[in-house]
Amino acid sequence: MRLCRFDDNRLGLVRGEEVLDVTPVVARLPAQRWPFPKGDPLIAALDELRPHIEAEARRAVARPLSKVKLLSPVANPSKIVCAPVNYRKHLDEARADAGIHHQKQVEEIQRVGLFLKATSALVGPSAGVALRYLDRRNDHEVELALVIGRPADRVKAADALQYVAGYAIGLDMTIRGPEERSLRKSGDSYCVLGPWMVTADEFTEPENRELSITVNGEPRQKANTKDLVLGLGTLIELASSFYTLLPGDILLSGTPEGVGPVRPGDVMDAAIDGIGAMRVEVRAA
Ligand code: MN
Repeated sequence: MRLCRFDDNRLGLVRGEEVLDVTPVVARLPAQRWPFPKGDPLIAALDELRPHIEAEARRAVARPLSKVKLLSPVANPSKIVCAPVNYRKHLDEARADAGIHHQKQVEEIQRVGLFLKATSALVGPSAGVALRYLDRRNDHEVELALVIGRPADRVKAADALQYVAGYAIGLDMTIRGPEERSLRKSGDSYCVLGPWMVTADEFTEPENRELSITVNGEPRQKANTKDLVLGLGTLIELASSFYTLLPGDILLSGTPEGVGPVRPGDVMDAAIDGIGAMRVEVRAA
C-alpha cells in the first residue's frame, strides 16, 4: 500500500499514476483534545485502518498524481532520528573535504551514534526547500527513511524491522559549518519526506535498494542501501536503546557519497527503487 497526504491534508492511496482520495477513513481515528498524545495517530492505527482504506478506495474518485500537492506522508512524528556518516565512502569524502568537515574530526557512526532533526523541519516534496544562510554551503543528502509503526523500546536488531510501518524517500538537507548537526540540519523545510509511504509488506529487501538524486538533471548521489555501515535493524536497536520510538517516528538511515551544494532555483530529483521518485524545488527562505 502506498499512502500519501496531499492538498489540504487529504489522505490518499497511490495506484499507478493516480491518487484515490480515502480521507473519510480519518474519521475512524479517536477524537483527541489537549494534551495530545505523542506520535502520529494515523500511523499508530494503520493496521486497523487498512481494510477501511481498501474499501474506501473502491468508491473513491481517482485524481492524477501530477495534479495534487504531496505533503509529508507522516504528519506528526515525535522524533526524526538520523544516522550520520553511515556509508563508508561518505565518511571518506567528509574527511577529505574541508567544506564538509569544517576542521572537525568526522567520527565513525559507531562512536558518534545518532542525532535528531527538529520535527518542525518536516515538509513534503510540494513545499520545496527554503534555504537559509545562503553565504554557506547547503547540501542535499538523499536517504532511505523508515517510519516506525508501533512503540519500540530496547528492541533487538534481529526483530527491529517488525516495528517498521513503511518506507519513504528522505532528504536530510544540511547547512555545512562548525555547529552541532542538530542545529545545522533543523531549518524549516530541511527534512523532506515523500513522495508517499510504501508499507513494509510491499518493500522487501530494504537493505538492497538503489537510491539516487540529481540536481538540475546532473547525477550527484547514486548508491545502494547494501552499503550501509550500520544496517537498518541495528539503527533501530541503537535508537531504541536510548529512547522509545513511537508510531510515526522517522528514521533517516544515512546518506551515501556525492553530497553537494544546492542553490535557489535548483531542482532536485530523488528516487529509491521500490518507492518511486520525487521532485523538490529549492528557493531562498
Ligand atoms: Mn544525513
